Amino acid sequence: MHGPARLKGGGMFKLDATLLRQELAEALALVEAHWRGLAQKPVKPQLKEGDVARLFARELADHGASMTTLMQEVQGKILPALTLWQHPRFWAYYPATTSNPAVVGEMLVAALGAVGLQWSASPAVTELECVVMDWLMRLLHADDSSPFLHTSRRGGGIIQNTASEAIIVVMVAARIAHQRLKMRQELGRELSDDELQEAYYRDASRLVVYMSDQTHFSGEKAARVAGLRVHKIKASLLANGNYGLTANQVKQAMDEDRNRGLTPLFCLLNFGSTNTAGCDDLAGFKGFAERESVWLHVDAAYAGPALMLKQFAQDAKDLQQVASSFNFNGSKWLLSGFDSAFLFVKDRAPLKAAYAASGSYLAVTESENVYNPEFKDWSLPLGRRFRALRIWLVLRYFGAAGLRAFLQQGIDQAGWLAAEIDASKHFAQIVRGRFGLLCFALRDQDLKANQEFIARLGQLSQDGREFLLYPSVLDGRPFLRVALGGNHTTMEDLKAFWAACLKAVE
Ligand code: PLP
Repeated sequence: MHGPARLKGGGMFKLDATLLRQELAEALALVEAHWRGLAQKPVKPQLKEGDVARLFARELADHGASMTTLMQEVQGKILPALTLWQHPRFWAYYPATTSNPAVVGEMLVAALGAVGLQWSASPAVTELECVVMDWLMRLLHADDSSPFLHTSRRGGGIIQNTASEAIIVVMVAARIAHQRLKMRQELGRELSDDELQEAYYRDASRLVVYMSDQTHFSGEKAARVAGLRVHKIKASLLANGNYGLTANQVKQAMDEDRNRGLTPLFCLLNFGSTNTAGCDDLAGFKGFAERESVWLHVDAAYAGPALMLKQFAQDAKDLQQVASSFNFNGSKWLLSGFDSAFLFVKDRAPLKAAYAASGSYLAVTESENVYNPEFKDWSLPLGRRFRALRIWLVLRYFGAAGLRAFLQQGIDQAGWLAAEIDASKHFAQIVRGRFGLLCFALRDQDLKANQEFIARLGQLSQDGREFLLYPSVLDGRPFLRVALGGNHTTMEDLKAFWAACLKAVE
């Protein structure tokens, strides 16, 4: 029974597992056919604006619809209008990987409907988040002494919606921590409650955030939200073969600003920039945050998971040594689905200083121990989805070795393509790739020839029939940006792509 008939009986709103089983079976049949057919479909639909919206009524109908009808509509109206991010030849942006446990997790999260407002609002929601965030830290080679672990009671990890939001969360917290410290220094004593409040409103217009010109625009957006100035520094070609910043470059920029009466506040570094997956020289930043009295955050949104691999253990250690905080997305390259933006801080106190708030309608909180942090006091929202359940399923399902094997597969595929490029007389990598991203152009630097090649290949990509990728530009030079690391890409896909590249220069 569905729709009006159930509504009359008042049973429509009850959670009904028997009915759910049938409804999920219909949804699953649709998913099964969709996944099976992925490789045969164009990666991208050919649509104009409004083509999708016009398939839908202007107003919601009075009567409800059965799940069968709705699945037919998904099949007929929605699936054909999707760009297929899980397609084996989707190589645009960065991958957005998901997996069976992530899908099952998402279903369970929705079905359980638990909200983690506070520890006591649903203890498992908070506690499992602590557990999985500590697991992730240990996968990043953290040992017992790491302040980024919840068990350290100093810092810890928290799941955010996106990397952009994670960066805003720490940037605002850094501003408030700085203002409070400055007020304490000015007054030479601890602050009263009113003075603590005052720190939120103090003029921040002379505080500066440093980042490279390769930093994702979310860094600049975060600075806008936090009300801070941005000083962008041109990234240089580093010994690691890619574009990034050295500590000297940032120090020089900070000294210039200090001479102009500005105050350095925040340094936003990259481990895997969006354009070319470049890494700033993290090892060179040892002691930098302390010496310069700044908050140092590393955005590892895409490349962070690679730190789990043995060959990146030193990078993981360097990052954790230099960073006050860092983020990476499980939804890009760790099979976790959206939303899985992991944020780790070395010290939870500045977050709590910025975000702690309560109301008499909430349960009285117990004193904070290891597994009952009040996450509402660590970032913006009060309500929290049980995302940790999905992450727990993904981590347990694949295990540490499985996750590492998945990451290595993307790196190996990129390695194969890199070797073909390096050996070819036509092409050259414009930077050295360490992860799953390939950036290459014609070996001949001639701008016009390059533009023509990219346009020819771009045409194949345009209609999304063969593959989907978006060319980019570095220092005025166009290049092809191929983001591997998706679940379904095979060597046959790569070989066909490489053949298309060669054909385009014949
Ligand atoms: N930082 C980097 C390095 C990215 O590559 C991206 C997106 O691709 C972002 C931040 C923004 O990510 P999100 O969509 O999670 O906000």
